[in-house]
Amino acid sequence: QKGKYPERVAFYNHELEESLRRKITLNEALRYALDRNEFRAVYQPIVDGNGEIVSFEALLRWHFQGRDISPAEFIPLMEQSGRIVQIGNWIMEEACRILSEMLKLKSGISMCVNISIIQFYDKEFVDNVNNLIDRYAIPPHLLHLEVTESIIHSEQHTIYHKVSQLQKRGVKFSVDDFGTGYSSLSVIHNMNIDFIKIDRSFINNIENKGRTIVQAVKDISESLDFDVIAEGVETEKQAAILKQCGVHFMQGYYFSRPLEQGAALHILAAGQQL
Ligand code: C2E
Ligand code: CA
Ligand code: CA
Ligand code: CA
Repeated sequence: QKGKYPERVAFYNHELEESLRRKITLNEALRYALDRNEFRAVYQPIVDGNGEIVSFEALLRWHFQGRDISPAEFIPLMEQSGRIVQIGNWIMEEACRILSEMLKLKSGISMCVNISIIQFYDKEFVDNVNNLIDRYAIPPHLLHLEVTESIIHSEQHTIYHKVSQLQKRGVKFSVDDFGTGYSSLSVIHNMNIDFIKIDRSFINNIENKGRTIVQAVKDISESLDFDVIAEGVETEKQAAILKQCGVHFMQGYYFSRPLEQGAALHILAAGQQL
């Protein structure tokens, strides 16, 4: 059979086969990853206009075969297998536990946790969040759940109901990667959102068109009453332009990379400005 295909096709088939093989390997390994303690959370600071840390975002890391696999690679696999529910609960608990430690060092600090849309289909989702808030004595308004615009699609009513149940308790919701989906305006129109995280592609481009877009989002936020966070801030110049646009909450390598839990607690204890 092989000889029948032109070389180029054979090459693509080979690549496809490789990536399929890798997916199968990762999927298999993901079944045991949690039990084998291969996951951990890292925490990236979010600062205000003075470089003061106001929040952290919990980000999942998977240590497999001697290195960290990117969540961009394994989260979609876990969403497909449904395993995201279990790991989502795990990182939420981890994040709440660390937050309760952080609150001893600095009051008012908040914790952002990424939530996959799949987790909303779990009937225990709301109960789980409520239980964690109770168990770790977290002031609910200091727990920020990040969802993407995809929340606007399928099963809207069930999901909105769950979001508003948690919002009634005080939990805050952020729209992550804002501006990259197909429903950026719908999501702020249809939901009572607390924060918008402007996707880093706009920040990356802020010296050009990105600036107009960032400014527009900031202007909308004033009238619709939500806060804006810029993600992926990598340079001093980008931070300066963001401030000129009135965007004061920022996250990115310019301030800090995601930190191991010990380091995150440490910079908080040091009261350091970034
Ligand atoms: P995200 O939620 O948009 O998280 C921000 C990503 O940007 C993180 O990548 C972070 O390390 C990276 N980042 C932060 N500052 C900068 C910067 O200045 N420049 C650049 N180029 N990148 C920056 P990470 O940790 O690899 O996570 C990738 C994505 O995986 C996340 O994007 C999120 O969608 C997903 N993810 C991570 N942890 C979780 C989790 O616990 N649950 C779920 N459902 N998804 C997660
Ligand atoms: Ca996020
Ligand atoms: Ca984000
Ligand atoms: Ca993002």
